[in-house]
Amino acid sequence: MIEIDVNTKLCAVIGHPVRHSLSPVIHNAGYQSLGLNFVYLAFDITDVEGCLRGMRAMDNFRGISVTIPHKEAVIPYLDEIDPVAKKIGSVNTITHEGDKLIGTITDGAGTLNAFRRAGVDLQNKRILFLGAGGAVRAVAFTFAETIQPEQITILGRTPSRLQKLINDLRVAYPCINLHEGYLTENLDHYVRSHDVIIQGTPAGMTGHSEEKLQFPYDSLTPHHIVMDMIYRPLYTELLLEARNKGCKIITGIEMLLEQAVLQFELWTGYTAPLDAMRESLEKVLK
Ligand code: NAP
Repeated sequence: MIEIDVNTKLCAVIGHPVRHSLSPVIHNAGYQSLGLNFVYLAFDITDVEGCLRGMRAMDNFRGISVTIPHKEAVIPYLDEIDPVAKKIGSVNTITHEGDKLIGTITDGAGTLNAFRRAGVDLQNKRILFLGAGGAVRAVAFTFAETIQPEQITILGRTPSRLQKLINDLRVAYPCINLHEGYLTENLDHYVRSHDVIIQGTPAGMTGHSEEKLQFPYDSLTPHHIVMDMIYRPLYTELLLEARNKGCKIITGIEMLLEQAVLQFELWTGYTAPLDAMRESLEKVLK
């Protein structure tokens, strides 16, 4: 255990609720592995403004991970926000730099790193997103901003939510080859006509009572690369089926870890000890 003293730096996750957050496990494992004088806590908060005023007043409060439902609500209280986070309209990372609070979002860049670490180059790939919620929004914007996929297709469920995401992406990135559709229509056609599938709905998540996606597993071939953002269970039905069909698979754990790695490096200035962080996470999830 780290010895807490007057120099200890504090980082934390804020959300409502936060009791299921795995961020304390990941970050504290990293601090302990490197022997850094940092500690990471979880705060269940509803008063976002008060929380950020408190952070600003505390010199040794170094960083905040922001989770649901506060990712948009924190924005008015920040001094700076990076351009992609601004376009997405969401922040998952706040850094206390001098007297400033600086916001960014690491979900998309972390996902990109998960693909890179798995040896997948997304340039010139046809990428299919299942779902049109907050996580897909963050990742799709980051992909449009930083790589040149041949095509991005987003399949949603609720028309208004899907249309808003598609319209916002078209306005921000008029040159990308962007398509849209619905999860209940021609899913087999969409799967066959894409290289990379990123599952971004909660369907299939442990404890999620809503109905499952009717995924056409027979349309998968070994050329597909399949990521599931869900990390409970570690291997979803989609990932198990994809692995059986010979596809390369990437678990939601990798996305979770990589977004935390970017935060860790931003706040500590050290290269994150990925193996120690992964080990601690897997121990908790098993
Ligand atoms: P969200 O904002 O609530 O969006 C969920 C999306 O999935 C929406 O498009 C929603 O449709 C759709 N959906 C929900 N239930 C569905 C069902 N039964 N069938 C078909 N579509 C359904 O959630 P989110 O924050 O984007 O998170 C999505 C998933 O990613 C969750 O499982 C979350 O745990 C996971 N996640 C993982 C990481 C990670 O680091 N690995 C990070 C963030 C999120 P509507 O438009 O109709 O609402």
